[in-house]
Amino acid sequence: MKTVRFLTLGCKLNFAESSELGKQLLAHGFVRAQPGEPATVCVVNTCSVTDAADHKGRQAIHRIRRENPDALLVVTGCYAQLKPQEVADIEGVDLVLGQQEKFSLVDFIQRLEHHEADKINNTRTVDLRRFFPSASSDDRTRHFLKVQDGCDYYCTYCTIPMARGRSRNATIGSVVEAAEDIVRQGGREIVITGVNIGDFGRTTGETFIDLLRSLDEVQAPEGLRYRISSCEPNLLTEEIIRFVAASRHFAPHFHIPLQSGSDDVLRIMHRRYDRALFASRVQTIRQLMPHAFIGVDVMVGCVVRRT
Ligand code: SF4
Repeated sequence: MKTVRFLTLGCKLNFAESSELGKQLLAHGFVRAQPGEPATVCVVNTCSVTDAADHKGRQAIHRIRRENPDALLVVTGCYAQLKPQEVADIEGVDLVLGQQEKFSLVDFIQRLEHHEADKINNTRTVDLRRFFPSASSDDRTRHFLKVQDGCDYYCTYCTIPMARGRSRNATIGSVVEAAEDIVRQGGREIVITGVNIGDFGRTTGETFIDLLRSLDEVQAPEGLRYRISSCEPNLLTEEIIRFVAASRHFAPHFHIPLQSGSDDVLRIMHRRYDRALFASRVQTIRQLMPHAFIGVDVMVGCVVRRT
């Protein structure tokens, strides 16, 4: 019996994608390995947002190889996309799949079993154009729903555009179908996720606010709630905040990456807002939803000015 084990690192998007890959394998006769039972195939879905993330990825690969000495070990995700050779050189790795190739996981496993696949299989990041839908189903109530991928912002400290490519997204119609499917499965919380979700619509000419409106109209039992995972301050418009406040199913939950409270530093980071804009967003949220949750990312440390 072919068994599989996933080890996923990083963001909600990675968890949605690992879950989607898991569904593919289960549809091809695999079953999930029981705890403590060595698996036939192991998949490590990596993150590469920092050097520490790469380090965690290597540790995860060594551990899963130790616990599954005979497994076919596949490594995918941002570390595999950014540094494929470095990952391939890690002892015990059998297959490295890039952001696009990972969605043909079953095919690559079969080809490798017949010695017909290369160890490294990667489309160059600049050529990543396709959007692959994903929705997690590992948790009965909470589901991560991927609506967007990639980013065109190129903030000076960030590797994600180099690991995930240009901004691209699903259509509103396909996202609504995926949400209806989750509701049918009994899902009661849907976390809308991606890389730069406020940029939704870049490749379809649709808009993020239209997506939110369509999702709020999905026929669903009382108690269904959507969460907007993280949204850039400049893309979290007043219109979106007012919509959430008046909506049927959107939780008063906002995660807004500020990164710095200094306009000078924000300029060096090539961020697309200033303190005043950020403060006005928080003010609007506070006025309309005093009980709202607001999560904020801030980067600390010294800025090195290159002269
Ligand atoms: S918007 Fe976010 S994902 Fe995009 S480059 Fe900036 S920090 Fe990275």
